[in-house]
Amino acid sequence: MVDYNKPIPDPDPYTSGPFWEGAKEGKLMLPRCTTCNRVHFYPRIICPHCHSSEIEWFEASGEGHLHTFAVQHRGFGGWAEEAPFITAYIDLQEGDRMMTVLRGVDPLKPEEIEIGAKCVVEFEQASDDVYIPFWRVVTD
Ligand SMILES: [Zn+2]
Repeated sequence: MVDYNKPIPDPDPYTSGPFWEGAKEGKLMLPRCTTCNRVHFYPRIICPHCHSSEIEWFEASGEGHLHTFAVQHRGFGGWAEEAPFITAYIDLQEGDRMMTVLRGVDPLKPEEIEIGAKCVVEFEQASDDVYIPFWRVVTD
């Protein structure tokens, strides 16, 4: 039993099963339309770009760049005790964006956070079956 006090997603196997199965193995799985070859996130059964239903899943690099962020000074549920924390959008290496909680930065020093910073995905176990992706700023 995992001790996790934040809200846990209820995965929809029809639209996002491979995403959550990959997350269990530490893999970032993304949907890609085989008609227009574009990646989209969140997962959908129809491509938001060309409306094709020809969707395939592939293992992404798990790399991206910080698109934008906000400091959250209050949280609810289990997030209250983590406040302040950073929510962010990550530009995925393969295309599209993912909303996340950003780690590896000091939420009390937002002036030190650089738009465009390189980020990598990591997964946190939330339950026996659910691993949640978070992104971390890396410096190299
Ligand atoms: Zn498409």
